[in-house]
Amino acid sequence: MSVVKKVLGLLGSEISYTLSPLMHNTAAEALGLNYCYNVFDVHSPDDLPAAVEGIRALGIMGVNVTIPYKERVVKYLDSLSAEASEVQAVNTIVNQDGHLIGHNTDIYGFSEPLKAFMSELEKENIAILGSGGAARAAIQALKNEFKPASIFIVARNEAKSKSLKEDFKRRNKSLKLKTLNIADAETVEKLRDCKLIVNATPVGSAKPSARKEDLIPAEKLWTKNHIAYDLVYNPLQTPFLKGAKEAGAKTISGLEMLVYQGAKSFELWTGKQMPIELIRNTLLKALETTL
Ligand code: NAP
Repeated sequence: MSVVKKVLGLLGSEISYTLSPLMHNTAAEALGLNYCYNVFDVHSPDDLPAAVEGIRALGIMGVNVTIPYKERVVKYLDSLSAEASEVQAVNTIVNQDGHLIGHNTDIYGFSEPLKAFMSELEKENIAILGSGGAARAAIQALKNEFKPASIFIVARNEAKSKSLKEDFKRRNKSLKLKTLNIADAETVEKLRDCKLIVNATPVGSAKPSARKEDLIPAEKLWTKNHIAYDLVYNPLQTPFLKGAKEAGAKTISGLEMLVYQGAKSFELWTGKQMPIELIRNTLLKALETTL
């Protein structure tokens, strides 16, 4: 194997907690591929255009893009896959001979762990907490693969959630999307009637600036009929999932989405299938030892 490795990485801010290097480096090593995955912490959004230009200038093969740049990065790329274009959010960039192509593997990553609950979700209401890039991917996945009655976007910034709703409604007239303010007293009642509640905010994550206490107190929210899906994966046991579990609800950890979105990115860069079981076990072990 050549000593010069092809470079992959992660563009984001405050991302020291990420498991993506462990995931991609373990997969590359297991398959004997000559890749190395690094963290590129871009502290200021003002530096994002230069960071993207650096991918081209340095011949970096590809990167993942994470919080808070998934939407902002779109305008610096040369082209977008159909899915990334539809949601206007990118979590994977492929550098094809200097041409930067944006993809969104979060849509696939979000769907895969939810497929086991497909029949339970049909004609049920679903709520998504947050209105950022991950919320966009979740709505797109729900629209593509599941048949919910309505999807509630539950966020603190009403202007942003309404514009997210309008974006989707323009392209999907029949999609039943509604917005709710997370601070409104009636919101919790609506959430209690939803089958699935997705946390698509960083609340509860190990990210230093993230709020640690729950957005909605667990005792007011959860019933045993709920399915709770936290997109946060570090820590493994978030307050959101803990509250849901204690009420007898079913839970899905963000680790599952992490593995599947990563597998799709890995395939886009290397053309190879990620060894899913090996990666899930490696990440689980890493998370359990940091708890
Ligand atoms: P983003 O684009 O920055 O959006 C974050 C959303 O969370 C925004 O709507 C933001 O509201 C809201 N938010 C942040 N802090 C909040 C608080 N204290 N109270 C209420 N709302 C709050 O980020 P993203 O890319 O969507 O990612 C969201 C989370 O999902 C992150 O933790 C990320 O790590 C996780 N994620 C996981 C995976 C996975 O593979 N498991 C994949 C994608 C994302 P404002 O707009 O008002 O700031």
